[in-house]
Amino acid sequence: MKIIMYGTGNAERKYVKEWMEETGNEVKMVTEQLNAQTVDEAQGFDGISTQQTKPLGGPALYKKLAAMGIKQISTRTAGFDMFDLNACRDNGITVTNVTVYSPRAIAEMGLTHAMYLLRRIGDYTSRMEEGDFRWNPELISNEIYNQTVGIIGLGNIGGATAQIYKALGARVLAYDPNKNVEYAPYVEYTDLDTIIKTADIISLHTPLLPSTKNMLAAPQFAAMKNNAIVINMARGALINTADLIDALKNKEIAGAGLDTLADETGFFNHEVAVDDLPDDYKQLQTLPNVLITPHVAFFTQTSIRNMVEISLNDVVKVVNGQHSRNEVRL
Ligand code: NAD
Repeated sequence: MKIIMYGTGNAERKYVKEWMEETGNEVKMVTEQLNAQTVDEAQGFDGISTQQTKPLGGPALYKKLAAMGIKQISTRTAGFDMFDLNACRDNGITVTNVTVYSPRAIAEMGLTHAMYLLRRIGDYTSRMEEGDFRWNPELISNEIYNQTVGIIGLGNIGGATAQIYKALGARVLAYDPNKNVEYAPYVEYTDLDTIIKTADIISLHTPLLPSTKNMLAAPQFAAMKNNAIVINMARGALINTADLIDALKNKEIAGAGLDTLADETGFFNHEVAVDDLPDDYKQLQTLPNVLITPHVAFFTQTSIRNMVEISLNDVVKVVNGQHSRNEVRL
């Protein structure tokens, strides 16, 4: 089978080569995304895999693909909002996505941020840069097994996070309107308010929905313990950034670990002039009790290999007329 792989990143290439050797299929890797300018490159291929956040195009693009004999598009991402699903259905094109590629990758990054903040590493670093190497009683740390961790959103990633903290001996509370029996042994289910008021580490793992946007804002920060550390590995807009900055500056909470920011799309995974960075990022970055990473919690060898393999296996399945459990339904 001949597959064209749009939006190929450098980190993906070795896994694509391995998959080709294992399966005997041929994959042409192109860096461009699938759109009106690049759609003709799919001529002569049996199937398509892509990775992009920009919309592919209007119904004409899907009609063109159908005329080429294309029956599916497999995105190597969880998100599928770049597709016109009505146009896919009208042109007999099945879309598959990769919803679970490595929850553990994101959970481990959340733990890394939490430990950095718990042990006050940013505070020590900024003081050491000024020549201050003293053991200041203000910076005395806690140990993780004495901490209460509150997980908001106990799905795939929240569940993996709960398992890690539980293994380290922490008390783990969780709030999720949908209870998940798989993760129940690792947590004490409770309500959101209890987590806000009692947790030392608050870890966000919900999707971004109208109901979850700004779920942590001034009233929630005011209700948190002063030693609370907030970890957001999910979506930036779950937190009201201006309120977070105020809460950190006013010492209402002790720190924040952020892998996502509400306005990240203009600069995360891009090289930009430092002067052009948004003001809220600049303010956060100056605070020693804030750790920011550019949406890389997922970016591990395991995740990338799984994204590539799951997506390419789905291309083969759907082109061969089989069903995949990763099919996106309208
Ligand atoms: P999931 O669907 O497996 O779990 C989400 C959970 O949130 C579900 O159990 C759901 O019931 C729960 N939920 C929904 N609304 C809620 C609310 N109001 N309060 C509490 N819980 C609520 O999703 P997942 O795969 O675990 O992903 C979680 C988040 O992580 C998503 O926002 C996703 O976009 C993000 N994510 C980030 C990265 C990264 O690299 N930083 C990578 C992948 C996913």
